[in-house]
Amino acid sequence: MDPSIVREIHQIVPENRVFLDLQERYSYSYDASFGEYLPDIVIQPQSALEISKLVKLANQHRIPVYPRGSATSLSGGSLPVHGGMVLDMSQLKQKCIIDRENLLAIVSPGVTTAEIHRKAEEAGLFYPPDPSSSHISTIGGNLLENSSGPKGLKYGTTKEYVIGLEVVTPTGEIVRTGGKTVKNVTGYDLTRLIVGSEGTLAIVTEAILRLIPKPPARKTMYATFAEFVTSGVAITNILSQGILPAAMEMLDQQCIRAVENFKPIGLPTDAEAMVIIEVDGHPLAVDEEIERCAQVCKEAGATSVHIARDEQERDKIWQARKNVSPALAQVGPTKISEDATVPRNQIPAMMNRLREIREKYQLNLFVFGHAGDGNLHPTIITDKQNKEEMKRVEDAVSEIFEAAISLGGTLSGEHGIGIMKSPYMEMELGEEGLRLMKLIKDAWDPNHILNPGKIFPQPGQTKVVLTDE
Ligand SMILES: Cc1cc2nc3c(=O)[nH]c(=O)nc-3n(C[C@H](O)[C@H](O)[C@H](O)COP(=O)(O)OP(=O)(O)OC[C@H]3O[C@@H](n4cnc5c(N)ncnc54)[C@H](O)[C@@H]3O)c2cc1C
Repeated sequence: MDPSIVREIHQIVPENRVFLDLQERYSYSYDASFGEYLPDIVIQPQSALEISKLVKLANQHRIPVYPRGSATSLSGGSLPVHGGMVLDMSQLKQKCIIDRENLLAIVSPGVTTAEIHRKAEEAGLFYPPDPSSSHISTIGGNLLENSSGPKGLKYGTTKEYVIGLEVVTPTGEIVRTGGKTVKNVTGYDLTRLIVGSEGTLAIVTEAILRLIPKPPARKTMYATFAEFVTSGVAITNILSQGILPAAMEMLDQQCIRAVENFKPIGLPTDAEAMVIIEVDGHPLAVDEEIERCAQVCKEAGATSVHIARDEQERDKIWQARKNVSPALAQVGPTKISEDATVPRNQIPAMMNRLREIREKYQLNLFVFGHAGDGNLHPTIITDKQNKEEMKRVEDAVSEIFEAAISLGGTLSGEHGIGIMKSPYMEMELGEEGLRLMKLIKDAWDPNHILNPGKIFPQPGQTKVVLTDE
């Protein structure tokens, strides 16, 4: 980077929070996807004012700016694809204030989601969005990806819990949106526009989150099925009986086997599917609802049903789900996690399509996910050094997206578009839908300096390219 620009940066942020060495920059060149791009400079701002000044400077010199939380994005969200400036948000003041009277949390973006869960629970309250990465991912990353997880079925996504933001705009202005009231219809809802914008419209420096009372009781069970399609019937029947579980998670046979190879907990490896169900609420309702869920699973043809008798057994059931990611990481060096999402009643059809894709391309394709809301995680385990296999992976990934959209679904339920899915945006949104989104980006970020290279397909880009060739 031009030394005169570096001198200007040092006038905003002291040298001990500015990194130019290759080794230091290298550790900011990747995230939990598998792209690798080296930034020109890494800066750890500590206030909205510092960020504002840096963004104004970036506009002046047309330097790309990449906000970064914990870099657990699976879609390449924070990767500095055009070099430039990475803003590591971890050094912003760690604020997490619980306002019990208003049922709110006021947080800075670098706080982990698990910390918000912990602080809310200490106050007898509950912050429902719970990505599996919550112990490491930041609330800033969650806000910008509109993350969710198993509890999305009953409680919705991050978006439903954000009522106010403080942000630095792409031109460097510090702006507040929304506020502390749950109801607010003053003008356009900029808060919701920013949430889920993947760091392309604003840099979040503070958020006001809505909390709810903590459900007093919960019960958990699992059921296994000899045929995948019957697990789908059980899920649909539970929901159509008026029960809304807090979570309904699914593992396919490949995942069950991988989990048993990784850390055996006695799951039946001949089952085609396993469904984990959790209900929460009033203790009496919870007891009745879990019994009904078990009954519905049996009637649908479950080969085994088990209701956890205590917290220890509950933890063991959830362990099966939590072990999926580490178990798959043992299978091969490169993990490509998709989150194609379909309407709930299309899950069996999507599973059939995924099975065909696995056979056609002869790949290690595993499927697990949030069955209650149709948010599946088809995950391919491969080796990015194997160019021939990566070509097959590219084709398989394209077919997965096509399958989800043709079944009335979407490219991404929670991981975002980033660089991994941008070539397919037009397939889902249509030409006009994509044009409207670009108009918003152009209006907010006239110099295209904030997280450039994300969401929108690059000219001529029609397909995800996973290899260097
Ligand atoms: C093992 C594992 C499990 C996961 N499970 C889930 C899951 O269950 N559900 C789910 O939804 N996701 C999941 N993810 C994906 C990931 O954890 C989420 O997308 C998470 O919200 C990213 O948070 P982060 O702090 O790591 O953000 P980063 O990856 O650093 O950034 C994500 C995006 O947010 C932007 N950004 C970050 N902070 C700011 C800010 N303050 N202002 C503006 N832009 C900002 C970045 O530019 C980037 O575009 C998982 C990932 C892993 C590795």
